[in-house]
Amino acid sequence: MANFYTDNKALQYHLHHPLMREIVALRERNYTESEKFDYAPLNFEDAMDSYERVLEVIGEICADIVAPNAKDVDAEGPHLNDGHVTYASATNQNMKALVQAGLMGITLPRQYNGLNLSQIPYTMAADMVSRADASFVNVWGLQDCAETINEFGSEDQKQRYLPRTCAGETLAMDLTEPDAGSDLQSVMLKATQDPDGTWRLNGVKRFITNGDGDIALVLARSEEGTRDGRGLSMFIFDKRNGGMTVRRIEDKMGIHGSPTCELVFKNAPAELCGERRLGLIKYVMSLMNGARLGIAAQSVGISESAYREALEYARSREQFGKAIINFPAVAEMIANIKAKLDASRTLLYECTRAVDMYKSLEAIARERTLTPDERKTMKSYNRLADALTPLAKGMTSEFANQNAYDCVQVHGGSGFMRDYACERIYRDARITSIYEGTTQLQVVAAIRHVTTGTYLNLIKTYAQREYNDTTAPLKARLDDMTALFEQSLETVKAVEDPDYLTFHARRLVEMCGHIIMGYLLAGDATVCPELFLNSARVYLNMGEAQVAAHTRFIQAFNPDDIQAYKQE
Ligand SMILES: Cc1cc2nc3c(=O)[nH]c(=O)nc-3n(C[C@H](O)[C@H](O)[C@H](O)COP(=O)(O)OP(=O)(O)OC[C@H]3O[C@@H](n4cnc5c(N)ncnc54)[C@H](O)[C@@H]3O)c2cc1C
Repeated sequence: MANFYTDNKALQYHLHHPLMREIVALRERNYTESEKFDYAPLNFEDAMDSYERVLEVIGEICADIVAPNAKDVDAEGPHLNDGHVTYASATNQNMKALVQAGLMGITLPRQYNGLNLSQIPYTMAADMVSRADASFVNVWGLQDCAETINEFGSEDQKQRYLPRTCAGETLAMDLTEPDAGSDLQSVMLKATQDPDGTWRLNGVKRFITNGDGDIALVLARSEEGTRDGRGLSMFIFDKRNGGMTVRRIEDKMGIHGSPTCELVFKNAPAELCGERRLGLIKYVMSLMNGARLGIAAQSVGISESAYREALEYARSREQFGKAIINFPAVAEMIANIKAKLDASRTLLYECTRAVDMYKSLEAIARERTLTPDERKTMKSYNRLADALTPLAKGMTSEFANQNAYDCVQVHGGSGFMRDYACERIYRDARITSIYEGTTQLQVVAAIRHVTTGTYLNLIKTYAQREYNDTTAPLKARLDDMTALFEQSLETVKAVEDPDYLTFHARRLVEMCGHIIMGYLLAGDATVCPELFLNSARVYLNMGEAQVAAHTRFIQAFNPDDIQAYKQE
């Protein structure tokens, strides 16, 4: 029977990373959860057993239901009736299958009917669902908004909203407005308070995925007279209370199954989540970090499907008397797709483990005082997650686009026809580098980790790990790439102009991305050469050439030439 988990050894490899022992122990509060819930795991082995079982169930649903439905979902899309959305009929089928299998609220605590799994299996589930249908992950995957309620909501809010999420109600994240996209400080949707204390929302939100979801987190201006991020608060809007209608569903290039909505709020009752004024500064930052990881998982899933579609087609299509996979030009495209896929996935799970570690410790800190060691660990993983999240979102989404492009290319003219899945994959991939912050905005977030040395310190940690006879030569090349990066950074810094740093920021961030992913893949290839050595070799060839090209660009660049790039 087809199964998107059991047919993917890379997922199984990442699930069994050595740090999982610590992650699961934290998540299960050293297995004391089993004293309160008789179905909670008794030890690490027991927990990993249930992680495997859950992933197998999701893998089966993805292969048997979600993937076969993807073409119909893409063709039908959602409908708008009387200001509300109905999904494509196959989207409803997908959702029903996952809800019936108990796969909502995967990471939520057990007392709210969640599964209390760590972020790693949840991200793997998103990776598989995206491989099956990248549009559907946007509906199912918005369950991670509930994490924000779990983290910042009151106990009463958690008791009212989290069990509903676990029972299959869907969520939405309402941030963007016509004049507030990348710059969320400009959000103007108004929140005012009635004399009885009820908050009311008035205004318009644009481009909201699953905008007609049952429960929404809405960023709104609660402080009259303010114009920046400090006047914004986070609200929970419950669709059952009315006051919001969908004005239109966008007609999009891709991810057709995911309703992207324009919403009109008219005196819609809502409740404050957390404290006033911290909406953007604290809660949206946390919400978006989770969502960015979700888009990285979506990107990896898309790359996985691009790889499999390209490989299958290249094996079966014959030209000039042989299968096209035998032509070096085609084989190279497929090897490149695979290398970018494996590089994306190793970065995604490295980042997810860091999120798992600090989020679990943060949750424990809400229950008791952390020991100094625990606090130190939490801070260091928090820093790591902050640095790796924009890198993961930026790099994996760009790779998903490149991989989808090459997948179409491998298919030749057939790739341009709707008969093959690659055409849909290509359209679906395009959004990944735009929403949840464009690639340019990921660079804005990542550049400070270049200048403060977070990435370089991480690279140095990876360089100290053990490599074997086969991977040591890769490591030596990575050392050389690191030296080129350091040289380039010095050259840029020497100009002592923030605009000059901004101009080269993407190049510098990408260099770090290639080196970090190169090291991670070299590490994977040391542990499991049969799965990763080829990709590590291919990736290093690409990454090394990119780092050399960026170095050359930076070294040869005349700072005066910056004028030539300015457009008025
Ligand atoms: C299909 C879809 C689904 C979406 N779902 C949601 C959702 O569920 N919830 C939600 O709140 N929003 C959602 N969005 C909105 C999405 O997050 C924004 O579209 C995105 O953040 C970009 O904002 P913008 O479209 O206004 O583009 P702009 O901000 O106008 O950007 C235009 C261009 O300018 C560049 N740019 C802007 N600022 C800078 C800068 N400082 N430095 C360098 N370059 C810059 C951008 O990179 C981009 O190339 C969705 C969008 C789409 C298309």
